[in-house]
Amino acid sequence: MLNHAKEILQTYYGYDEFRNGQSTIIEQVLSGKDTVAIMPTGGGKSICYQVPALMLPGITIVISPLISLMKDQVDALNNAGIPATFINSSISGSEMYERIQAIEAGKYKLLYLAPERLEAPSFVELIKKMNVSLIAIDEAHCISQWGHDFRPSYLSIKKFINGIQPKPVILALTATATPNVKEDICELLDIPLNHVVLTGFGRENLLFKVVKGQDRDVFIEEYIRKNSGQAGIIYAATRKEVERIYLQLKKKGISIGKYHAGMTENQRNEYQEQFLYDNISIMVATSAFGMGINKSNVRYVIHYHIPRNMEAYYQEAGRAGRDGVESECILMFAPQDVHIQKFLIDQSEMEGERKEYEYAKLRKMVSYCHTESCFQQYILDYFGEENAGECQKCGNCTDDRSQVDITKEAQMVLSCIKRMNEKFGKTFVTKVLTGSADKKIISFGFNQLTTYGIMRDRTQKDVNELIDYLTAEGYLRPTDGQYPVLMLTNLAVDVLRGEIKVLRKEKIKVKQIIEDNQLF
Ligand code: ADP
Repeated sequence: MLNHAKEILQTYYGYDEFRNGQSTIIEQVLSGKDTVAIMPTGGGKSICYQVPALMLPGITIVISPLISLMKDQVDALNNAGIPATFINSSISGSEMYERIQAIEAGKYKLLYLAPERLEAPSFVELIKKMNVSLIAIDEAHCISQWGHDFRPSYLSIKKFINGIQPKPVILALTATATPNVKEDICELLDIPLNHVVLTGFGRENLLFKVVKGQDRDVFIEEYIRKNSGQAGIIYAATRKEVERIYLQLKKKGISIGKYHAGMTENQRNEYQEQFLYDNISIMVATSAFGMGINKSNVRYVIHYHIPRNMEAYYQEAGRAGRDGVESECILMFAPQDVHIQKFLIDQSEMEGERKEYEYAKLRKMVSYCHTESCFQQYILDYFGEENAGECQKCGNCTDDRSQVDITKEAQMVLSCIKRMNEKFGKTFVTKVLTGSADKKIISFGFNQLTTYGIMRDRTQKDVNELIDYLTAEGYLRPTDGQYPVLMLTNLAVDVLRGEIKVLRKEKIKVKQIIEDNQLF
């Protein structure tokens, strides 16, 4: 069975081997098992349903939210000699009936559909008459309210599947691997958890970096010039910022496109095409850009602002280097941007529990910016892949500053939090440590603690940074919610007992750099 699949891979796609996970997924599908396939962006999900589509007797229906890209996807398949078509709101009623007739006559192996179609009973009746072998649900995390891109229309998929006889095989595909999204997909589509295939999330060719404390506009301009001719995406948090960055770079003579939901569809498509066909090499965009875009030679993805969570970050950053060539993923961190993201969560119409969950996810994203461990490892750990080694290439792995022992300072912070009964947040703990005369401190009697003012010689910013670092490295665990309380982890207890040391990269002091330079 798999040999035949491999022949198809070679004949239609020209690839010699299946990638990690693809063969397992294809084997499961061909043996009739409903499957959830979790693969990183660029991992090669499409082949997992396209190859079986060519082997199964009936048609494969692909449910995808990406209406604007369906035509391109179908054109690419047709060019490769794979008979495929799509039905969405962009085609006329008569065209739709023609396509359906052709499907019934067995002319196509794949049919791409937008999920909204499944809500029209008359349309569903037409599908029921077809011989459907496989239903592939692309971007399957859209079914989960815990996902970062929930689409209510995805909830009608299950009912749609139930109406088709005999029951087709289901293959749900996504790049989002967090446990509750995974469980939601399984539960809502009735797929056993042991049918989930999670393939390596590591992308060896991606180099992750976090840039802090630099003028961001200067940084991107210089970066673009240094990498001129290379394709890159710059993500910004708001439409306004996209417009500003776009104009600024354009004024400097850089050939650039833009993309956000406030533009007309025509404008968006035009820039997208120009970018896809390398007429412009840089795209500045909000997160509205990129879902499903198969541009393989993107050499860098820069986030001008911190994204709202790790899922969004890895999905967007993962658009770099789909061709396997080394590419950079740079996140520019500025503490004030975290407030924008918090504000957006606060203003959203999400319910209380959901908001708390989003704050917690944002905090994990912030910790990514503060970690001094391998970035790739941090990401993989987040997505539940344990024991990943260090990548040896990211900004942290290649940072050759020497490490200093900060166990004593860490103990000061941790013991202060313990003495405050693990009931307060970062700002208040910092005030106690730096000996602030805040009335609230006096009213709680914290000015009597032995740790009160123990870090008086340091600025509040410094202490805040130290707490961020201890959080990122897993010594502290903030509770969920908008006003998180700092709690100690088991690791922190070991530090307090003196059983483990806390190390941190040495800070580069401006004064020292000047002195070093004077030597030459
Ligand atoms: P995803 O949907 O997971 O983001 P795609 O299905 O778009 O990823 O595949 C990403 C890229 O990898 C595409 O250019 C695809 O042709 C390529 N690809 C997929 N499978 C293989 C393989 N077995 N060998 C080589 N390239 C592959």
